[in-house]
Amino acid sequence: MVKHAVVIAGGGPTGMMLAAELALAQVDVVIVERHATPDPDRSRAGGLHARTIEVLDLRGVADRFLEEGKAMQIQGFGRIPLDISDFPSRHNYGLALPQIQTERLLGTWVQELGVPTTREREVTGFTQDDTGVDVVLSDGTSIQADYLVGCDGGRSVIRKAAGIEFAGWDPSTSWLMADVEMVEKPQFGLRPGGGIGPAEGGDRIRVVLTERQVEHTSEPSLQDVSEALIATDGTDYGVHSLSWSSRFTDNTRQAASYREGRILLAGDAAHAHPPLGGQGLNTGVQDAVNLGWKLAQVVKKTSSQSLLDTYHDERHPVGARVLQSTMAQVALTSPGERHHALRNTMTELLSMDEPRQSIAAMMSGLDIHYDLGPGHPLLGRRMPDLDLVTADGPLRVFTLLHDAKPVLLNLGEPGSFDITPWGDRVQLVDATYTGQWELPVLGAVTAPIAALIRPDGYAAWVGDGTDTGLRDALTTWFGTP
Ligand SMILES: Cc1cc2nc3c(=O)[nH]c(=O)nc-3n(C[C@H](O)[C@H](O)[C@H](O)COP(=O)(O)OP(=O)(O)OC[C@H]3O[C@@H](n4cnc5c(N)ncnc54)[C@H](O)[C@@H]3O)c2cc1C
Repeated sequence: MVKHAVVIAGGGPTGMMLAAELALAQVDVVIVERHATPDPDRSRAGGLHARTIEVLDLRGVADRFLEEGKAMQIQGFGRIPLDISDFPSRHNYGLALPQIQTERLLGTWVQELGVPTTREREVTGFTQDDTGVDVVLSDGTSIQADYLVGCDGGRSVIRKAAGIEFAGWDPSTSWLMADVEMVEKPQFGLRPGGGIGPAEGGDRIRVVLTERQVEHTSEPSLQDVSEALIATDGTDYGVHSLSWSSRFTDNTRQAASYREGRILLAGDAAHAHPPLGGQGLNTGVQDAVNLGWKLAQVVKKTSSQSLLDTYHDERHPVGARVLQSTMAQVALTSPGERHHALRNTMTELLSMDEPRQSIAAMMSGLDIHYDLGPGHPLLGRRMPDLDLVTADGPLRVFTLLHDAKPVLLNLGEPGSFDITPWGDRVQLVDATYTGQWELPVLGAVTAPIAALIRPDGYAAWVGDGTDTGLRDALTTWFGTP
């Protein structure tokens, strides 16, 4: 029987990011993907948010994405634009980049890292016990693994087979999307519930509009597009020549648990919500980066299985917040006078600095705070990409994390820490930093003397000149020596 330490069901953005993280940690991983090539669906993610770009920068691959995309202020809440250029990040912007390109770039990276992908086969089920998981494929074969991760999208077979509840809210609204031509040129721009603009790479027109009915059994027809246009604009502009159409709804659900024994869920398999604010892919990629190093340590037995529970504990609240924010954005963008009034009020509110920074930091993922207890404001938050000076010369913090290995960064007296017992898994770096310490939304914070940085770039311990709590933090996050 074929054996791998980890099987990832689904080679979308989440599955590929997780595969990369595991490969960097030298874990034997395979992706099983239903399709022969990345899904060319034009309707999906239009870009990456700041924290996702930072995460790619942590691994030294952000430039590949920046070269193909367009860096710009794409952030918005219910289509109310939010400028984040004043945020203390190298990447204080979003990146306009179609999902198909994001997937291609992730695919190339995963290939370079030597991860095998079994294509044109589906995971159809599994059985698990204390020793491992037997993963069953659609061709009748199976793979023996230590862990199976369902990155298989909103209709996740893995989630269903694990019996994990997908609780939430049924759809209240359906949107149609279509590429068409029109006899009369409409006014391009947003409408209540949607918008009309140029389609990608051509002179066709892209229409995104709400529909009267929520339930549908087929893709939108030209007649459906005409009716939706008449409902919003009073005319269908002589719409004709439909070349592509699709739909999405505001179905909003979250897996009650991200782990069931040796089965884990990440990305859309764990949370489904409408695309307003563009957070699905971004959240999935960041789930993967939270899970990857933890799963690697458990597979290598440097940490116990309980470390995997911190994946649910940390990422479930982040997902729940995304669900809440997308529901609020649906309310803001719905047609009707009352929604319009709500939107005007929010627009006014978001023109003020404090609310803008708070909501924009949530939407960009820069405000994520894992609850690691009381302490310095940096604890549980993203480590900024400081320009350090080391004995070997200047160095960015993110460069230290390219191999996804944890770092104890000592900014105090060189040589003041001894972490020899963890020397095989934690890097100790003596450096100086003379600049300001600034965190998104919080602003300036007291300069820490040292920080233990997890492979996902979050601070697991912050030192004030002593090593109080450091051994506990090293043991909690990186295992007993
Ligand atoms: C209209 C629209 C616009 C969007 N815009 C944005 C945006 O701007 N920003 C953003 O962040 N997100 C956006 N999203 C959401 C984004 O597309 C998803 O969140 C993202 O694709 C989730 O990635 P994933 O890898 O978790 O799942 P998926 O992309 O769904 O990938 C799952 C993969 O698993 C495979 N698979 C499924 N079942 C099996 C099986 N049993 N065995 C093997 N393989 C299987 C599938 O073929 C697929 O390749 C948008 C979505 C829509 C519909």
